[in-house]
Amino acid sequence: MSSLAIQTPVLISAIIRIINDNADEVTELDRVIGDGDHVTNLQRGLAALEKINDELSTLEWSPALMKIGMTLMSAMGGASGSLFGTLFISMAKATKDKTVDFTHFPEIFNQGVEAVKQRGKAALGEKTMLDTLIPVANSLMSDAKNNIAFAEALNNTKAAAIQGMQSTEAMVATKGRASFLGERSIGHIDAGARTSQLMVCAIADVLLQGLTAPT
Ligand code: ADP
Ligand code: MG
Repeated sequence: MSSLAIQTPVLISAIIRIINDNADEVTELDRVIGDGDHVTNLQRGLAALEKINDELSTLEWSPALMKIGMTLMSAMGGASGSLFGTLFISMAKATKDKTVDFTHFPEIFNQGVEAVKQRGKAALGEKTMLDTLIPVANSLMSDAKNNIAFAEALNNTKAAAIQGMQSTEAMVATKGRASFLGERSIGHIDAGARTSQLMVCAIADVLLQGLTAPT
């Protein structure tokens, strides 16, 4: 499939639903070790994406990912706005001349995650969204390399996201607002790691449903 037609509105509404369903919890997570605005920043970005659903449906993958990244970058505030924006803009660049399928997507996603690492000057284990995104990228890359069936890879991706998100609880934050708390950040899950996990799981579930739905 070369166009995002049909898929984007379904994916965006699934993401909006899961974020809305967990909004209070995420607000509390960011309130305890940040400033409490993470979910509203993200909801603003997602609302802006919903408004351009029609346009996205007409675009090929690379320009659609670019448009998503630019929209998140301008509509969201906070550290997460520029980081999620960077993820999609870099994925757009990595998608040029490539078909987005299970063979190519892991490398495309991994390039996006590498750009987030550079932008945030952060690595694994610093209690950020990267503690979800890096394990997800690694799981996808390893499953594609080992020719794991797509459905199994999607379930592995969900497990990697959940494990990554949970791993932030024991970490000391060394990046972002939570780093101001130092050791006192231990014992709390990072808000960006949680929303990243929720979004990854929502996308994987839509794709899994698509695999089992009658045609
Ligand atoms: P702000 O911290 O500016 O209020 P948000 O609340 O929207 O922005 O986003 C906070 C989230 O952004 C954190 O929970 C963390 O996951 C992520 N984050 C913050 N700084 C960095 C960084 N340098 N690298 C990666 N992720 C980061
Ligand atoms: Mg915040």
